[in-house]
Order: sequence, then structure tokens, then C-alpha cells
Amino acid sequence: MPLTFDEKLQRFADLAIQIGVGIQPGQTLIIRAPIEAAPLVRLAATSAYKAGAKLVDVMWQDDALTLARFQYAPRDSFEAYPTWYAQGRYEVAKNGGATLSVYAEDPDLLGGQDPDLLALAEKVAQTHNAPTRQLGMANAFNWAVISVPIPSWAAKIYPDDSPAVAVEKLWELIFQVCRVNESDPLAAWEKHIATLTEKKNYLNDKKYVALSYRGPGTDFTLGLPENHIWNGADADTPSGIRFIANIPTEEVFTMPHKDKADGVVTSTKPLSYNGTLITNFSLTFEGGRVVKVTADTGEATLRKLVETDDGSARLGEVALVPHSSPISQSNKLFYNTLFDENASCHLALGKAYRFCMVNGAEMSNETFAAAGGNDSLAHVDFMIGSGEIDIDGLTRAGEKEAIMRGGEWVF
Ligand code: ZN
Ligand code: ZN
Repeated sequence: MPLTFDEKLQRFADLAIQIGVGIQPGQTLIIRAPIEAAPLVRLAATSAYKAGAKLVDVMWQDDALTLARFQYAPRDSFEAYPTWYAQGRYEVAKNGGATLSVYAEDPDLLGGQDPDLLALAEKVAQTHNAPTRQLGMANAFNWAVISVPIPSWAAKIYPDDSPAVAVEKLWELIFQVCRVNESDPLAAWEKHIATLTEKKNYLNDKKYVALSYRGPGTDFTLGLPENHIWNGADADTPSGIRFIANIPTEEVFTMPHKDKADGVVTSTKPLSYNGTLITNFSLTFEGGRVVKVTADTGEATLRKLVETDDGSARLGEVALVPHSSPISQSNKLFYNTLFDENASCHLALGKAYRFCMVNGAEMSNETFAAAGGNDSLAHVDFMIGSGEIDIDGLTRAGEKEAIMRGGEWVF
């Protein structure tokens, strides 16, 4: 018998809590979610309590309230931020609590708003939440991000359907690419994690000094720091809790050297950033820094992102995803980085993950930077992979070895 929607939703909630967050007995859990996600949040909270969670608390979000602020709040009020919110998140994270973020927003919500205000609001939020983000990026606590359909987002993907049908179709798509429809989703995830682990171990053994990319509009070389670490799928907290930060995930990734990017990269998918859609964009790098930005739409927003601070003009992540990933094969643009980044090889402007370097978490900011690690308030992924991209690894001896051909793993 095919599964009912409620059965699939239950499986998705269990997947998020057990495989994603990896909740442990006695842990506190914060769930951040849009109000439309209430049915899933209730199932996730129940799943967490059954696994022994001590307390589950929810921070609700609402696109309509975000929009109201941009439309009607005084123009000089965007430095304001609810500090209790940032402090609450930090307190739970610092004390070993877990976080599940349910990410869903209207990709066009803030499209018509002033880019200066958007950039300021983003910067203020990032600044207040930097301590929590620091802990999260160091894997100091267990956390996961999932997405659920909301009508505005579903309408973007299925513009010809009624809101109810669009939401239903998007749920099915999410279930599909998150392996919820497999006969045993948790076992399917364990197998998937094992495959990603094999790829990441291979790259870690190789210790390439640089990667070179060739594809339509892309001719690019990216240095990797000594002692970089390829990560993928699962991660462990210092106390040994295994978690999977993104459901779904298809990537293996590390940090590039912040001063060693040269050439041109062209996006292969639009980037939905801060409510603005940035399309057909290219970034030109010299010595690690963006020196030229072009885009068909959203160029001003992209420029603002690059100009956030010094590190936002440099790269903090390089990720490899085969073109045959379930998301790529769905042939859908999700207008949501959680999914779109897993369709494709990508780079990220901004902050590097400390765990992508040996002893990175213990380094001072200066030591980390000197070793090639990038720092920024921003961390924004953008897609450069396709079925036409070839990637080579450069060995210490100066030899080129094929990593991907036509967007697929060679090894
Ligand atoms: Zn990534
Ligand atoms: Zn990223």
C-alpha cells in the first residue's frame, strides 16, 4: 500500500530528528520554523520527546511580518534587533542544546525593497547571531536544517497550479529528494552517508594543492590550503554526537585558500538571496578576491553581498556534487539553497568552516587567516556545476588528475 501523506510527514519528522539533529536523551531542542510548518513541528517535537529530549522550544517565523517591517517601519530603524532572540539561541547552543531550523521563505518576498536596507538588516542579524553561528560552524553542538513547502515558495516552483496543488507537489518533491519514499528511509540515509564518506576519504588522501575548473563561462583555478579537510554528510560534536546538518545533502566540501582564486566562474543556477533573484552571474577573481561582478538581474544585490566586508569578496567553501544527484535529476530549480546547492558543484562567498582545516577550531583568528581560512559575516553558496563541467586536482608534484568529467565523479 502506498504511504499516506501523514505517514510520509511522520517519516520526514523522524528523519529530521533522528538522522539530522541526532537528538540525545536529556538535550534541549530549539526549533526555528515558519508558522506554516506547525504540523511538521508538532511531529518533530513529539519525535524528540520520545527520543528523550528534555525540552523542545519553538521560535516561530512569518514572512508577512518580515515584509510589514520593510514596508512600514521607519527607514532609520533597521539597526534594531531583538537581542533576547540571539541570546536565547546562544544560551541553548553553548549549553549543549540542539537546533532544528525549518527554512522556508518566499523567494520574491523582498524583491522590491531597498538593497541598502536589506543589506543592513542582514548584517545586523548576522552580527547579533555571530556567537551562535561560530559555535554551529565549529560543530560545537548538533544542528540540522530542513525545508517545508509554504504556498508562496511552492507557487514559484509550480506557477501553473493552484496553491493547494503546488504545495502538495512540492511536498512530494521534497519527500522524493530526501529519500522519504524509500522502503526504509533511515537505512537509505546510512547507505548514502557511506558513499559520501568514501568520496571524502579519497580526496583527503590525495591532498590536492589546487582544483581547476573548465566549463561554459568558467575557467578557474582555486588553491586549497595545506591541512584542508574534506567533509561530507555527517559531522560529530566534540562530545561525539553524530548529526547531518543538511537534509538533504549530496555534497563533499572543504575550504579554499582565501588568497588563491584566479579566473572566472559563471553561475549555472540563479541565486535567491535576501528575497532577490540573482541570475546568470559571473565573478572574476584575482588573488582570491572578487574584482568583477556581472549579472543579468540582481546585480546590485550581488554587489552588496560582495561588499559586506573584506571576507565576503573571498571564498570560504568549495563543494563537489555529482550532476546525477536526485535533486539535479528532478530538473527543478527550488529557489532555495538547501536544495539547489545539492544539485550542483558550488562555491560560497564568505566565512569558511573551521572544521575544514586541521585544528581550525583551536586557531586564533590571525593563525586561521594566515593559513588561508576566510572570515566574514556572510556565507552564501552559489552554483557553478553542470553536466558540462570538468574538474582536475593538482598534486603537490604538479600533476593534474581528473576528479570530475561532465559533472560526474571519475573515481
Ligand atoms: Zn555547500
Ligand atoms: Zn555553504
